[in-house]
Amino acid sequence: MTSSTQIQLVSRPTGWPTHENFRTAVMELPDIEEGEIRVANEFISVDPYMRGRMNEGRSYIPPFELGATMTGGAVGRVVESRSDDHPVGALVLHDQGWRDIAQGPAKQFRVVPEIEGVPASAHLGILGTTGLTAYVGLMHIARFTAGDTVFVSGAAGSVGSAVGQIARLEGASKVIGSAGSAEKVATAVERYGFDAALNYKDGPVRTLLREYFGDQDGEGIDVYFDNVGGDHLEAALDLMNDEGRIAACGAISSYNATERTPGPDNLWLVITRRLTMQGFTINKNMGHYKEFISKVAPWVASGELVFDETVVEGIDSTVDAFLDLMKGANVGKMVVKI
Ligand code: NDP
Repeated sequence: MTSSTQIQLVSRPTGWPTHENFRTAVMELPDIEEGEIRVANEFISVDPYMRGRMNEGRSYIPPFELGATMTGGAVGRVVESRSDDHPVGALVLHDQGWRDIAQGPAKQFRVVPEIEGVPASAHLGILGTTGLTAYVGLMHIARFTAGDTVFVSGAAGSVGSAVGQIARLEGASKVIGSAGSAEKVATAVERYGFDAALNYKDGPVRTLLREYFGDQDGEGIDVYFDNVGGDHLEAALDLMNDEGRIAACGAISSYNATERTPGPDNLWLVITRRLTMQGFTINKNMGHYKEFISKVAPWVASGELVFDETVVEGIDSTVDAFLDLMKGANVGKMVVKI
């Protein structure tokens, strides 16, 4: 028998999750059957979307089940195999995160390449879902074109840091970011090549953003990549150019809210400035993966596009890693190393 340490959701959080919402279970795994593999996870992903799945109610994916092991992106190595396509030692990407040992039908595990100089965890970040989110949101949802001015919230995070860099590489005329500390602002500018960034904790975003964009057409924002919602969306709307585009990617400022959050008081600008605001979820955009990887992987390999990870050690730290991600402790992709 092999045992697997797994993190389970036992109650639905109200507001900020706490350790009481989770438990650690040690499960005995049965022997694998024909067509199955067993995988030792090396890195597991914690992501903001997981907070939404802890709630009941309608969303784009079903809620996590109470009493069941959490799921989420993970990369690991095949340690036992009864599938010819998944040899022992192969690196695989799959959805059985929040545990140290995973197993199941081989078709649920995708063999991914090992790239020299790039950690396996990159398949959870820049070469995986978050990189794809950045690319699709910017290029397909916001329909970025060279010369556009761009504002990106969450600029030091996994998605935001990639958005800023892709915009620059694709010929943006100006890329401005926002983040929650002076260190993150410096990282956005010095490492990710944003032209400037603001610390949204220094004052109202609505005021701070006016240092970088004017409110006349042509002085403002062509593309706003929204990871935050709330005050950031309102501030961006004020300063959009005519026919500007907003990619609604995330609204992390409201994920732990216990009251209904106020809507933007300036939504009517969508009409008068003929704006397009489009939401998207990456699970419905996987068809862009090939295009994304052919464009972005060479930039990563050449070092033109850099990425960071905040690595937390040990399966027992997974809940803390998730909570710290929501509080902004990460630069770049937050992952747990098993
Ligand atoms: P990040 O790496 O950006 O981590 C989350 C960051 O959010 C924190 O580091 C913190 O940074 C910031 N944050 C937390 N609370 C607030 C707040 N109240 N106001 C402003 N910023 C806040 O995570 P991801 O890159 O994985 O995700 C970024 C966004 O993209 C999220 O909203 C997520 O839900 C969304 N997303 C959407 C997808 C889709 O398919 N539509 C797919 C993947 C992600 P700081 O210190 O700067 O506050």
